[in-house]
Amino acid sequence: NNYLQLNNLVKDFHDGRGNVVRAVDNISLSISKGEFVTLLGPSGCGKTTTLRMVAGFEVQTAGDIILNDKKINNVPAFDRNMPMVFQSYALFPHLTIFENIAYGLRIRKMPKDTIRNDVAMAAQMVNLVGLENRYPGELSGGQQQRVALARALVLKPEIILFDEPLSNLDAKLRIQTRTEIKRVQQLLGITALYVTHDQSEALSISDTIVIMHNGKIVQSGSPEDIYNHPADPFVSDFIGNANFFEGKITELDKSFVTVSLLGSEVRIPTANAQEGLNTGDEVMLAIKPEAVEVQPDTGQFTGKIEVSSFLGATTEYKVEYSDGFLTAIHPNTHGEVHNFRFGQDVHFSFKTD
Ligand code: ADP
Ligand code: MG
Repeated sequence: NNYLQLNNLVKDFHDGRGNVVRAVDNISLSISKGEFVTLLGPSGCGKTTTLRMVAGFEVQTAGDIILNDKKINNVPAFDRNMPMVFQSYALFPHLTIFENIAYGLRIRKMPKDTIRNDVAMAAQMVNLVGLENRYPGELSGGQQQRVALARALVLKPEIILFDEPLSNLDAKLRIQTRTEIKRVQQLLGITALYVTHDQSEALSISDTIVIMHNGKIVQSGSPEDIYNHPADPFVSDFIGNANFFEGKITELDKSFVTVSLLGSEVRIPTANAQEGLNTGDEVMLAIKPEAVEVQPDTGQFTGKIEVSSFLGATTEYKVEYSDGFLTAIHPNTHGEVHNFRFGQDVHFSFKTD
């Protein structure tokens, strides 16, 4: 079950002025065979550095990388057979698509027939058949990224590493290509370690999401788990764009917590609250945008529409209220579009279930 393990990995960089930057701060992680694990976090949190240590491009300052119960700390990148797919595609512009895909096999001095067969299979796997004689410059971004994926697949790797592979693609291609990556990964049972800063990408593609912040792992779990039970305010903000409210617990029993906030009281099922609460505690409530209901004439709290963004399936509102701004997302079910206007006085309440 512990196919790839990272044990207490640390990476320090030294800047030119004698300062040490701890890019990765003692992270431990266990990945099963065939699992799709995503490192998710804001820019600079240490995702790429972690991936580069796994690939063998970067030597860890401390800790171990263990593959199949064997320490691979000192195994050179070439012998790890963990190809990486990059944001920039990193194709050779002067080589044809065929030769780009074949590159790793040629380096490994594989027989010609094997190369021809394996490249054909990889090209087919990612729907590139017919483009083998073109050059990277003659392909779209999405096609180029599929070449990069084929180039990794052709090595029959057990693990593929992905560093923000979709970041250079436009929105529609991003979704197509991520579906393609997921399909191939599942079909071949490949283990994937994937890096992104994009929450929705991570939620849609992963078996397990590992959230990183300042070089540390702050939470890991299934997408549903992370989304519904964020471990702390950073995660709930990062993954769910939560609205935060300061309040005080006025009542507490087995099934409900009552929190006083903005001069009113909100009753929340205890299943949606953290353990260890007491009456009188000052608390913070994290409320997801889709749990805020904006209403025209009635509702627990009052506010004013600051921005109204129609997004097709949903409409997103930025609402100004006595303590600041909050975000609300309404589904646009047929016949139920409210279309609140800029500046309109509204009410809002929370769906606490
Ligand atoms: P991410 O991929 O999450 O954006 P990185 O792993 O690239 O983050 O970087 C983590 C931290 O390490 C950042 O503060 C970055 O500036 C620093 N860092 C990364 N690479 C180097 C390097 N070669 N030299 C010095 N600092 C680095
Ligand atoms: Mg990065």
